[in-house]
Formats: sequence, structure tokens, C-alpha cells
Amino acid sequence: MDAACVRRWLAVAAARIEAERNYLTQLDAAIGDADHGTNMHRGFTAVLASVGALEEAGPGQLLIHAGRTFVSIVGGAAGPLYGTAFIQAGQALGEGDAFGPKRLVEAVRASLAGVQRIGAAVEGDKTMVDALAPGLAALEEGLRHGSLETAVRAARAAAMDGMRATIPLQARKGRASYLGPRSVGHQDPGATSTALLFAALEDTVLAHRSQRLAAGPTSRLGDLDER
Ligand code: ADP
Ligand code: MG
Repeated sequence: MDAACVRRWLAVAAARIEAERNYLTQLDAAIGDADHGTNMHRGFTAVLASVGALEEAGPGQLLIHAGRTFVSIVGGAAGPLYGTAFIQAGQALGEGDAFGPKRLVEAVRASLAGVQRIGAAVEGDKTMVDALAPGLAALEEGLRHGSLETAVRAARAAAMDGMRATIPLQARKGRASYLGPRSVGHQDPGATSTALLFAALEDTVLAHRSQRLAAGPTSRLGDLDER
């Protein structure tokens, strides 16, 4: 995978967030302050508006740029949390022009570590960590046994399961925790946006594969790229 894949992921993620913007905001209206869809949409809109100018940027630099944009433009909890996640992922990808499945896992792992370093949430606290941690675990497990395509599919499914599993939980971090037991019975908005980002990853990898197959046998050498 390369910078074009990261650009595609950003664009697909932006489109998915835009499509679910009102849903994310409704979820946040129930246990927060009704701005999560707006926050995420503002962030991705600003990222898409600015990445076009970064013609020479590599995959890591693109994610670092996206993260800095989130930190500077998106308020609330999600801005710094996602901003840190994207910056950490970009740093994990490093300076290279291309990356393989192992680097992808390292990037997602670095995202989770960044989110937990600044947000101090663990699984079960009813936050984005409840989608990110199982998504990462399924990605790692999937790559141990199968292809990148099956791994990203499993990661998306696990992130969505984690998202739904936030419904019966009581929030222990963030604004929703102020509600105490009244946060029970509602799906966490941040876990929902994280599941959308895993869905965008699956879309990106599947599109990349069909492009490679269409390009003919020589490009299949890309499958051997384990960096
Ligand atoms: P705010 O809560 O400041 O209005 P958003 O509504 O954009 O920000 O984002 C809310 C989401 O942020 C929550 O649904 C939750 O998933 C996530 N969140 C809040 N606090 C934390 C935290 N400490 N660690 C991880 N995620 C958190
Ligand atoms: Mg909010």
C-alpha cells in the first residue's frame, strides 16, 4: 500500500462520516452534547480540503497531516483523541513510500496506544477504545491466519461488535460519564465513528486489491511486500 491508499482511506472515511453525520450527532445527543457528527465531519472536511496540496507527501506524512488538522480544528474530546491516533499511526508508518500488512498493524496499534495515553480509557469504559481495541486484535489475528482482505473484514466486524457492545455499558470516561447509570442503554458515538473508520479501511483494501488484479500478474508481486 502507498500514499494513494491513504488518500483513498481518508476520502472513504470522510464520505462514511458525512453519510452518518446526523446519526453520530443523535447518538451524542443521548449521552453527550450532540456534536460528535459535526466534529468528525468538520475534521475530515478540513483534511480533504488540504491534502490535495501535499502532492509529494508519503503515507506517514499524510496521516500526520490529518492528525494535526484534527488536533487544531476539531474541538471536544474527539479532536485531540483522533488527532493523536492519526499522528501516531503516521509515525508508525514512517518515511517510506509503501507499507505492508505488518506496518498497518503497527499503525493501528500505535493509534490505540496514543488514544489510551491521552484518554486513559480501557475496554469497557464505553469509548472509542471499545471499537479500536477489538478491531486491532481482529486485524492481528486475521493476518496470522489469512490474507489482508480477510483480516480487514474481520477487523471491521469486530469493531462493529465492540461498538454495539457499548450499549449496555455505563460510561466511565468523557462527557457521557457525567450521566452515570443514565448512560446505560445508548451506543457510544466515538465507538461508532471508529467502526466507520474500520469500514473505510476494509473498503480501501478491497479497492486496492481489485485494482491490482485488474493491473495484471506483475503487480501481484505487491502481495509479497511484507514491510
Ligand atoms: P465531546 O465529548 O467533547 O463533545 P465528541 O462528542 O466529539 O467530544 O466525542 C465523544 C466521544 O469521545 C465519546 O463517544 C467517546 O467515544 C470518546 N471519548 C471521550 N472521552 C474519551 C477518553 N478519555 N478516551 C477515549 N475516548 C473518549
Ligand atoms: Mg460531544
